[in-house]
Amino acid sequence: MKRIIFCGFRGTGKTEIGKIVAEQSGLPFLDTDTLIEQQTGRSIPDIFHEDGEERFREEERKVIAGLKKSDAVISTGGGVVTDPINMEHLRRDSIVVVLHADIDTIEKRLMKKPRPPLTGLPLREEIATMMDRRRQHYQAAADFCIDTSETTPETAAAGVMDLLRHGNIPVKNRVPCTAFFKSGRIPEKCMDPLLKILSDSPPDPLTRLMGVAGYPCAHSKGPRLFNALFGHYGLNYHYTLFEDPELDEIMSVARHLDVKGLSVTIPFKQEIIPFIDEVDEHAAQQIGAVNTVVFACGTARGYNTDWIGVRKPLVDLKGSKAVLLGAGGAAAGAAFALTDLEMDLTILNRTPAKAKVLAERFGCRWGELSDFDAIHPDVVVNSTPLGMKPDDRMPVREDQLRSGMTVFDLVYTPPVTPLIEAARRAGCTTITGTEMFIGQAREQFYLFFGIDVPSEKIRELL
Ligand code: NAP
Repeated sequence: MKRIIFCGFRGTGKTEIGKIVAEQSGLPFLDTDTLIEQQTGRSIPDIFHEDGEERFREEERKVIAGLKKSDAVISTGGGVVTDPINMEHLRRDSIVVVLHADIDTIEKRLMKKPRPPLTGLPLREEIATMMDRRRQHYQAAADFCIDTSETTPETAAAGVMDLLRHGNIPVKNRVPCTAFFKSGRIPEKCMDPLLKILSDSPPDPLTRLMGVAGYPCAHSKGPRLFNALFGHYGLNYHYTLFEDPELDEIMSVARHLDVKGLSVTIPFKQEIIPFIDEVDEHAAQQIGAVNTVVFACGTARGYNTDWIGVRKPLVDLKGSKAVLLGAGGAAAGAAFALTDLEMDLTILNRTPAKAKVLAERFGCRWGELSDFDAIHPDVVVNSTPLGMKPDDRMPVREDQLRSGMTVFDLVYTPPVTPLIEAARRAGCTTITGTEMFIGQAREQFYLFFGIDVPSEKIRELL
């Protein structure tokens, strides 16, 4: 047994259900709100009332950092999930159960037991606003979810005990899903741990699966990086390859295995949108592509983190004149990042009509690759696959590169592409595709688990 942590919005039953689970598991029960009151010698309403929410959050962080690693059932305050340091402490070698309920149920429960307000809004509006604000964080925090809208504490606790005994992958789904992975496309070293997890008697039924969905994706660095991060943060997960030409096949297997999340790569970033329940504002409305899907509490929510990986290394070049080479999936995220940085952007593409479509979405100029010389850009971003191993071509000629330019090649295999080599010779500042990979992976891990991994850690593990 490990630590069992209950998270969730106020009124979802964390304390009552936690106590029953503690009793049935023979484990001590702790409540972080009670520990804060003991540590400060003050009631939570007093801390909120006299010193405000920020002070309460400070005390809460201290209590969570000081929790013992020994087995216990721990109920937490509704807002703990929003702090990545809290999540790092709570998630280590633990099982996080997120309790959730519909707004009517929560309102009824909170009317019976008043708590300090978190906003100046009337109760129902406050619940709706805070649930919306925290939804992403609860989904990230959840190893398992239980809907308590229609349950008594006893039946919800029975559901938790069942999950703790058997995990979330139904036995009947294990063998048919194994056949999907035995396609011959997945390298042997990835198959061994996967087959153990999917066997009739897995070493630990609580190990959860996730992975990268693509075709092809066997070259992905995802399994190495994510599995190393799971070890580093004490997370009971395994990341694998969901490689198949048919996305509906991948999604069917992912749902049968109740995966926690998927990274999405070529060629599915746009195709996946109809398969998911919600798409976040950046990905859906502007970029039109999803590279991250988080499954939790009955919902599959899609995000795009590629643009964050492009934006971060360029943040000091706000307002520059930029050229984006290519107009495919990665270019959409890059165009969003470059316009977000208020750059004077021109998109150039082999097929100019595609550059036009993308440019119209982002309100920038467009043209063909031969228009490069007329632009005199400060920033050049390559989003074509030219230079990707074994291709050794460049999207521009070496004599078109000049000292003072910043050249960002999104291609990351090889780590130093022919374009980056030429740009270095020409005295340009260079940014490799690895930087984009690190930035997008960091955000993806945060969306999956609520933990903010330092970029240096990702670099070390790659
Ligand atoms: P994509 O959707 O297939 O788009 C490819 C783009 O490159 C299209 O605009 C295409 O032009 C252009 N192109 C292809 N071959 C070309 C050639 N021979 N000459 C000139 N232009 C050519 O691919 P994508 O998903 O955007 O990926 C593009 C690159 O970004 C890949 O190398 C990928 O590895 C890299 N990437 C890196 C990261 C990272 O984390 N670093 C993340 C995502 C992608 P047409 O419109 O004329 O076909």
